[in-house]
Amino acid sequence: MFPTNKALATQHLEEFLPRAGIDYTSTRNYDYGRGWRQNVSMLSPCVRLRLLPEWEICRKALAHYKISQASKFIDEVCWRTYWKGWLEQRPSVWATYLTELKSELTNRFDGSEYHKITEGNSGIKFMDTWTRELKETGYLHNHTRMWYASIWIHTLKLPWVLGADFFMRHLLDADPASNTLSWRWVAGLHTPGKCYLAQADNIRKFTNGQINPDIQLATEPAELALSTIQPEPERLTHSKPLPTQGRIGLLLHDEDLSAASWLKQTSNCESIAGILPVSDYRCHKLSASVTEFRSACLKETLAENDGTYCTTVEAVLDWAQATKLDHVIMAQPSVGIWSEVLPTLETAFNTQNIQLTTKRHWWDEQLFPHATAGFFKFKKAIPSALTQLETPLLKL
Ligand SMILES: Cc1cc2nc3c(=O)[nH]c(=O)nc-3n(C[C@H](O)[C@H](O)[C@H](O)COP(=O)(O)OP(=O)(O)OC[C@H]3O[C@@H](n4cnc5c(N)ncnc54)[C@H](O)[C@@H]3O)c2cc1C
Repeated sequence: MFPTNKALATQHLEEFLPRAGIDYTSTRNYDYGRGWRQNVSMLSPCVRLRLLPEWEICRKALAHYKISQASKFIDEVCWRTYWKGWLEQRPSVWATYLTELKSELTNRFDGSEYHKITEGNSGIKFMDTWTRELKETGYLHNHTRMWYASIWIHTLKLPWVLGADFFMRHLLDADPASNTLSWRWVAGLHTPGKCYLAQADNIRKFTNGQINPDIQLATEPAELALSTIQPEPERLTHSKPLPTQGRIGLLLHDEDLSAASWLKQTSNCESIAGILPVSDYRCHKLSASVTEFRSACLKETLAENDGTYCTTVEAVLDWAQATKLDHVIMAQPSVGIWSEVLPTLETAFNTQNIQLTTKRHWWDEQLFPHATAGFFKFKKAIPSALTQLETPLLKL
């Protein structure tokens, strides 16, 4: 259902682009139901892995349209960069989410309602339809995600962290930043005083009357502990210069497969490998379909680059030793599952005297520092990043 390599993802984008202007602006909020989603791109599982990175999508959109015509689509694509930049500067929000999740899963939560909903057996027909779609396809429309999260938190009064975790397990595009922060936004934790309350009329309208909620939806926000309200942004770490001497290897990973292009161009790489940290995926209980999709994308990218597929840090170390590497370079992974993997990798390389250097793409370097407050402040920095897309060689 979703492309697993760059060529197919690009073709999918090219086919969507004629609808990415005024049509997207006026219809993107409609969820016409499974199989009828031509009004949105459905590219998020590929964008999540940066099989198609944000800057390439924007560049292609601007080749089709004037900036004013494609601005809604470009804004949505940039929401992803915004969420990532925001979390990157507040790693404690991810850590707190994990702690609260663990506590809800083990101590405090009576799970009967939770199990009924997540098994698609809640008796609320439209929620069960959405749950089935999520588990069977790994995708939900953006508006439906908002309704689902709102009903979960404000109407059913279930802990938001359990809902975020349920999405993380099943969405093919599951992303620690976009998912956790969107749930926090719906809950009212992102912008204090503002939450998202789903309304029956709005659901009827934007599903073209296909869904008519048969339960009373909350009209007041659920009361939440405000302990997880946003901390002050931390300073972003700067990438170190890339090595220029010695034997260099490129390590790809599920946070940025586009490094096979932009990072490879910068160094004389002797060898390429890729890692999907499947045991960490298991710890976070990501579903088999998420693991399989990402594994397929990574394997296809590696096949195009004659690279070695790894699923453990030990296998990466074997590759680095077998190819006699002095340095390994990789795209800087974002806060999330990689917050646990990266230190292990660094320690393993240190023991073998192999230098690990991580690098952010210039798009992130340029835009992340603007993700300190709300999206509307961040948005002002987008035009300047877009003008640089015309530079023939990507600046690092
Ligand atoms: C509760 C909740 C949880 C979410 N969890 C995730 C998640 O784990 N991963 C994820 O990628 N998105 C998440 N989103 C954002 C959004 O719902 C999806 O990115 C979008 O539905 C993907 O569908 P599409 O590719 O057809 O989007 P399109 O409308 O075609 O948009 C194009 C691209 O822009 C990006 N995008 C669009 N809207 C958003 C947004 N609001 N936030 C961030 N990026 C956006 C996506 O990469 C998307 O592929 C979540 C939203 C909510 C409300």
